[in-house]
Amino acid sequence: MENLSALKAILSSSKRIVITTHHKPDGDAMGSSLGLYHYLKLKGHEVTVITPSDYAYFLQWMPGNEHVLVYTEHLEETANIIANAELIFCLDFNHLGRIYELGALVEKSAAVKVMIDHHLAPQGFDDYRLWSTKACATAELVLDFIELMGDKALLTKEIATCLYAGIMTDSGSFRFPSTTSSLHRKVADLIEAGANNSHIHEQVYDTFTESRLRFLGFCLKDKLEIYHEYNTALIYLNKEELERYKITTGDTEGVVNYALAIAGIKFAAFIVERKDLVKLSFRSKGEFPANEFAQKYFEGGGHRNAAGGQSKEPLDAVVHKFKSILPEYKQLLNQ
Ligand code: 5GP
Ligand code: MN
Repeated sequence: MENLSALKAILSSSKRIVITTHHKPDGDAMGSSLGLYHYLKLKGHEVTVITPSDYAYFLQWMPGNEHVLVYTEHLEETANIIANAELIFCLDFNHLGRIYELGALVEKSAAVKVMIDHHLAPQGFDDYRLWSTKACATAELVLDFIELMGDKALLTKEIATCLYAGIMTDSGSFRFPSTTSSLHRKVADLIEAGANNSHIHEQVYDTFTESRLRFLGFCLKDKLEIYHEYNTALIYLNKEELERYKITTGDTEGVVNYALAIAGIKFAAFIVERKDLVKLSFRSKGEFPANEFAQKYFEGGGHRNAAGGQSKEPLDAVVHKFKSILPEYKQLLNQ
């Protein structure tokens, strides 16, 4: 991190701090935000976590969750807090477009902006950054940040629990290539500091509602399409199907990964018709650049093996477009 000493100087006295993260926050977004929240509170700052939207029920058990303000549910209050903030930490995103309407408020605010993130190609709205695309999760970088601040000894059970949840979810429970030996050492520190690994895993992955599990069954049995020629699998759903299974925020998370469990499948897509747009999720194995695919055709981005995008076109048109792009990648998909 460049200019660390200048940031340390700013943080040496109590500040009004906002932490924000991307739209529809996932486990890493919430885990890194709340981990940093507990650390900064411990250091004597006034801290508010503000999310641009709601998030999954299986992320709402984290310590400190009761203090999180969802922008869309507290429009005036959050706008005031952002306008009066002295520092804004932006976690797990690097383009203001990823925080929707909050982007304009953050941009307008005179606060010092600190970005902590692991996605490609930052926009450059930040004054300070801890950024590495090699990091498995933003939560890993928050742990690095605490260490850079010279405060590793301050890790509490709360901090460790949140950061563990972020790393666990973004590493696919420690199985993605980003799971290095050094990451395992850091995670060992979190467990020593009080993170209860098996309890955290259970809170996130074994708390399905019945309809969510039946929905998963429906996706796999009735909705999965496989294009063998392109080693590609696709699941797509319209609004009516989502309503039939009473799908709420978070219920569709993870479905796309199941398609990659098939031997030989290199690329999996999950496309859903949301209220005002169509949302696409991509996953890949090995070298196939899911992020390039998302960026080039679906106003999106992400990591090589996990990316996403969106479209304002009708669902059928989006699915047609998706299929029509595959021939361009035929060679890569058959390597
Ligand atoms: P998911 O499929 O879990 O929603 O997203 C996987 C990853 O893709 C995220 O961690 C994020 O990096 C990226 N991603 C998802 N949706 C978008 C999007 O609309 N825009 C950009 N730039 N990245 C996205
Ligand atoms: Mn992340």
